[in-house]
Parts: sequence; structure tokens; C-alpha cells
Amino acid sequence: MYKIINVVGCLFFMCMHATYAQQEKIDMNVINKIRKEGLTNSQVIDIAFHVTDANGPRVTNSYGFKRAADYAIRQMTSWGLKNARLDPWGEFGKGWDLEKSYVAMTSPWYRSLIAYPKTWTAGTNGPRSGDVMLISAKDSAELAKYAGKLKDKVLIFDELMSYDHSNRPAILRRSDEDLQKLSEATMAEDTAAYRRRMERGRAQNIIPRNVVNGLKAIAVRDGAIAILSSSPENHSGTVFVLQGGPYRKTDPDNFLDIMIGLEDYNSMVRMLRRNMPVRMDVDVKTKFQTEDTQGYNVIAAITGTDPKLKDEIVMLGAHLDSGPAATGATDNAAGVCVMMEAVRILKAIGIEPRRTIRIALWSGEEQGLLGSRGYVRKTFGDAENMKLLPDHQKLSAYYNLDYGTGKVLGIHLQGNEAARNIFQQWFKPFDDLRARTVTLLNTGSTDHISFNTVGLPGFQFVQDRLVTQHSNMDSYDHLMPDDLKQSATIVAAFVYNTAMRDALIPRKPLPVIGTIDPVSGFKKQ
Ligand SMILES: [Zn+2]
Repeated sequence: MYKIINVVGCLFFMCMHATYAQQEKIDMNVINKIRKEGLTNSQVIDIAFHVTDANGPRVTNSYGFKRAADYAIRQMTSWGLKNARLDPWGEFGKGWDLEKSYVAMTSPWYRSLIAYPKTWTAGTNGPRSGDVMLISAKDSAELAKYAGKLKDKVLIFDELMSYDHSNRPAILRRSDEDLQKLSEATMAEDTAAYRRRMERGRAQNIIPRNVVNGLKAIAVRDGAIAILSSSPENHSGTVFVLQGGPYRKTDPDNFLDIMIGLEDYNSMVRMLRRNMPVRMDVDVKTKFQTEDTQGYNVIAAITGTDPKLKDEIVMLGAHLDSGPAATGATDNAAGVCVMMEAVRILKAIGIEPRRTIRIALWSGEEQGLLGSRGYVRKTFGDAENMKLLPDHQKLSAYYNLDYGTGKVLGIHLQGNEAARNIFQQWFKPFDDLRARTVTLLNTGSTDHISFNTVGLPGFQFVQDRLVTQHSNMDSYDHLMPDDLKQSATIVAAFVYNTAMRDALIPRKPLPVIGTIDPVSGFKKQ
């Protein structure tokens, strides 16, 4: 009974609310065309093939990134987008590509290893063989005992990674209750979730970073071969690989750091603890690109047609750069393909947007949202001093996608309550696709944050979080075509509605300088 009364109360409130809320003009004729083009004539999976299989990993400033960027520029130009180009956003650093990797244990028995050199690490300069050496040091001071003893050694820290035996479901769809909870959030900041995430991140760094870096410095001086890394997440054939060395122009090429599975890592640690000699063969070739160290995003546009509004902008985007160990399918080819498909849909149905629609495929996201931050700084304003440029007044909204291949279920308002009623109305024609949740919550750690830090309305959609993020298994087959089609359709509709609306999307007040973490997007505490 309590429940029924509650529901009636809610309905009454919603009716009242709808009476006073601004009614959005929605052109159902265009929305239906978008649905038809997006759901039945989709090309999203063809785009996905080109971004992943055809071009390979897309580490920022690598040849793989350049190949994929060139493809996106060609493809979007062929659809009729204007001025598709590589757009420099500032100094990034060296490009890095892996050209060869052979890593095996050769004694006391032969074991081929699931092994991936981390990005921006050096190669071996030809094949090398050496003993694996157990390193035990809890802090940098304890490393001194190894100086002069690391020549021709492969280094491994004396730590066992714990293996989590609990079964995790392979596919995690969001439940109705979960979505309901999101839509009822009354605070933008979920600090408990933020703290949990930070703690998880810290738990993964079993060996303190300064100890690892201290050991690498000795290893380079002594002429060691490589260091082996792992983490409790690296099991059952899946390993997570990101940065292993610095990339700035003036930084050294660093030391070879190889990520391996915890099963192999633990096995070698157990043998070494029992004084069984372990030997390895390592032959790794990496290539650093130093000719052009600027960072580039891919930018393209559908030009606005309304004489009064065409200088105003609506943006959509996703990061094109990826980790090194696979083709970055769910992180974030999925987002790139959905955003490209959204502009294809809009061109295919021949819309004439009032405002200019601009798509951005970012680089440097994995290194700290660098591409989007650089772009926002040069286009809209600088978060460090809140000096705003004229175009700050012209951007209506930025829409981002970076939580994997799962379909769009809603949108995060980032605390922008004034946009709630607009988005709720825009989701109505997609209720049958389960897209309806509008949550006040902040979500972070991807490119919409770069817009929010200068007070611009940047939004990230709520998705089913289906990711194989940063792993060696983040490949094409992990993409879900029907989810990508659904997402592209809804994104196209949101972008279209934003381009056609009489007014800009409402904004929050400008943030106080220095109060928002520029990567996580959470308030600095
Ligand atoms: Zn990502």
C-alpha cells in the first residue's frame, strides 16, 4: 500500500512538473529518420573493423594512431563532413610502436609467456638471455644493495599476486533497480564511490612506484635486460598493459618493462624462492618517433545553416588513442565508432542543422585527458586561470562516450540540474530502447571532464559497462553490434536536438579555479 500511494504521489508530482517545465520541440519526422538509419542501415561495425583490425593499437603519437586518424579523416570527408583534419593541441612527446616481442622462460623448463612490453619502454637491442633475479625491497633505501649486480639479469619483485577465485559474470548489464537509484541521486558527487575507486587503484600498485622507478634507474646503469610486472587483475590469459616509461621529448627512452600474467609471475617467484635458477630469452624491438612530438586530435564538422546560430557549436567526441596490447576495441574504438556513425547518420538523412556540429576524436586520453584538455584550452578557455575565449559563449554542449561497448541507458548531468527536463524529453522517443535514466551524478576520468573544468556543459552517457579496458583481449570480437547501433542512434538524436534548439543547453556556474581534479573530475578534497 505504501508503494501504491508513493507511485500515485510521484505521478501527480510529475504531471505538475511537466505543466511548468519548458516543452521541448522535437521533430519526430527527423527522429524517426535517425532511428531508421541508425538501427537498420548501420555502418558502425564496418567503421569498427577499420578502427581496430585494420589499424592496430593506437597509442598516442604512434604510427597506429596516425593510421586510424587518417582513416577517420578520409571516411568522414567521404560522408561530406567539412574540414576533417589532424588538429594540433600542444606538445605531447614521443610516439612509440612495438616492432617485435619474444619473451620466454628457457630454464628449468621451456615456457612461452603471455607477455607485453609496456608503452614507451626500450627494446633489448637484439636477442638476450639471462637469469631471472628476485628483488626484495620495500623502499628505495633497500635498493642500494643491488647496485652493480644487475648486469644481464631479468628482474622480478619478490611478491606473490593473489588470485581471486570468485567467479565474476562475464557480462554485467545494469539492472532496473540500479538505474532507478541513479535517477534518484540528489547529489552530484558520489564521494564514497570515488574513494572506492581510488582505493582499488592503489591496491593494484603492489610495489610502490618510487621503488620500481629506483630499481629501473639501477638496472639501466648496470645493463640489466628487463623487469617483469604483473597485478592481481592479470589472470586467465588476460593482462592489462599501459604506460611503462616517460614519453616527453627530453625524457630518456627508459628501461624494458614487460607485463605478464600473474600465474606465470607467481610460478617464477615460487621457483626462485626455492633457489631454483630461472632463465629467460628476451628479444624486444620498440620504435620511438621523435620527428613530430606535437599531439593531434581529429576534428571534423557539419556546418550550421542558421544565419544567427551557425557560429554556435555542439560537440560530440571520444578518444581515439588506446593501450598497446590489443586494438582497444571497447576502450575506446567503441566510442569512436558510435560518434563517427552518429555524424554519418545525420549526413545520410540530409539534416541542415542550425548550429555547427563538430566531432572530436581525442588523443592522449590514457595519459590524462591531454588531447581534450589541450583542445579546450586553445578553443574555449584555460581551467588554470579561468581566462575564457570568445567561443566559450558559443558551445551549447559536448557529448562523450567512453564506457565500453554497452548501449546508452541514460546520461550523467554532472550536477547540471537545469538540463534534466530537456534530456528527459529527448529520451522519450527511445524509451523502448531502455534509454531513459537522467542522473545528477558526476562521472569522471574521461574527456567530458575537460569541458566541465572550464564551466562548459560536458556530458557522458550512462551505459551498460561492457569493457575489456587496457587488456590484451580488448579486440573487435568484444564489441556488441546491436549495442553500438542503439548508442549511435541516440547520440545522433541528442546532437541533432542540441543543434536545433532555440537556446543553448543551460550551464552550471563557473567552477572556482583549482577546485576540480582535471582528470577524475571530482572535487579536490
Ligand atoms: Zn577510455
